[in-house]
Amino acid sequence: MKTLCAPTPRLACFGCCPPIRPAHYDPLDFARSLRRELLDNRRRLQEEGPRFRPIVGYSCWGLGFLDPEGRRAGCMLHPFQNGGKELRALIDYGDKCRRESCLPSRMFALLPEAGQDFWLPMAAGLNTFLYSSPRGNPLFHLMLWGPSVLEPLRKLALERGWTETELLHRHGFLLDSLWQPQGSRYLLRLVLERFVEEEPGTGALEGLCRELWQRVVALPEVHHPSASSLRALDRVYTHRLPLEDDFRDFLRLGLQWEKVSLERAQSLEEQVEQLACQVVRTVRN
Ligand code: SF4
Ligand code: SF4
Repeated sequence: MKTLCAPTPRLACFGCCPPIRPAHYDPLDFARSLRRELLDNRRRLQEEGPRFRPIVGYSCWGLGFLDPEGRRAGCMLHPFQNGGKELRALIDYGDKCRRESCLPSRMFALLPEAGQDFWLPMAAGLNTFLYSSPRGNPLFHLMLWGPSVLEPLRKLALERGWTETELLHRHGFLLDSLWQPQGSRYLLRLVLERFVEEEPGTGALEGLCRELWQRVVALPEVHHPSASSLRALDRVYTHRLPLEDDFRDFLRLGLQWEKVSLERAQSLEEQVEQLACQVVRTVRN
């Protein structure tokens, strides 16, 4: 099974080590000092062997280069590096290391293998510091669009014989940090679903998503959520609604609704789907 953490023998990420670190931490900002530290950690572990040594602060002695050339960095205490033996408990972080997983890696895991293989070449030439960096590795942003968007896009590319680079050249907004994939992927999915056996022109998807967004936020009930809300008791946290996860993300992150009733969420969902049909139809006519 492939993971975003170490998808090929050449690529390895250490972006979430150690699990307790400052908000918005990016290892790329510390590449020079980290390189020295990772070399030292490797040398010390080889000389002294593993022993119980709790970590303090934001650096972990178990993080080091996995190869003598210093190309791949990662956890030297992971079972993969020790013939199946789990040594991560030696740093005294309990289960934190094992539980750690970022959202892009969880989205990556939801893709079929062919989907993973399609997007991975984007990161092929990155060194271990760039690959581990949310800023340097485009996959961290791209994966947030999730399988319901990434898979139809891949199929579109396959039908046209495009590589992932050619696809992204036509629809560059997928990598644009001005777009928040989690909150927008529902709208993009709706737009993509309405292009059956038809190619959206270069830049068209972005324009359609923007238009759809504008029409949604112009709806009176979105503009004035309290006016049509039901009793407070009927409302639940949007992330708990028994609805598609991309729609829940749209409510929570796109519209910034913390709570809503199921009835109202479903009614909005219906309206947004109708708007998506109208928006795509307008472009066709
Ligand atoms: S930051 Fe994400 S991809 Fe990188 S090692 Fe952690 S879980 Fe894996
Ligand atoms: S023990 Fe391994 S997984 Fe845990 S923080 Fe250190 S390097 Fe990362």
